[in-house]
Amino acid sequence: MLADKDKVVTFHYTLTNADGEELESSKDRDPMSYLHGANNIISGLEKAMQGHAIGDEFSVTVEPAEAYGERVEDNIQRVPLKRLKGLGKIKVGQVLNLQTNKGPVQVTVVKMGRFNVDVDANHPLAGETLTFEVEITEIREASTEETGHGHVHGPGGHQHN
Ligand code: ZN
Repeated sequence: MLADKDKVVTFHYTLTNADGEELESSKDRDPMSYLHGANNIISGLEKAMQGHAIGDEFSVTVEPAEAYGERVEDNIQRVPLKRLKGLGKIKVGQVLNLQTNKGPVQVTVVKMGRFNVDVDANHPLAGETLTFEVEITEIREASTEETGHGHVHGPGGHQHN
């Protein structure tokens, strides 16, 4: 079975930036699962996965446009603190997941005020050219429920509580 639309693909990865620094790795934890063709992962990585089989190991370098986008300077937004209730104590430098009408957006806190928080809406990896070392460990058919929801259920995927 090959990575293709409506398949659940599970893989290990190591992510490095253009300087060769390791940013993230799944080596010491469970591999990651995603639903192919559902925009669950960055487009450059999904394209590279297409047509690969279980056991395949490969490396792909993804430009910002197909990763987390270019950095937009001055992309600072002011968010009322009351919108961040339930996120606990917030401090400068912290990365938050904000719920917006376009879905969850990752932002970095740059300034704390009494009633507002200024956040940098650039994704922390915006502007970075990223290299993924990938090893595909499993590919299976997605269930109708998974294709309906647009994400993977069970281990490595979305947990509905
Ligand atoms: Zn679901």
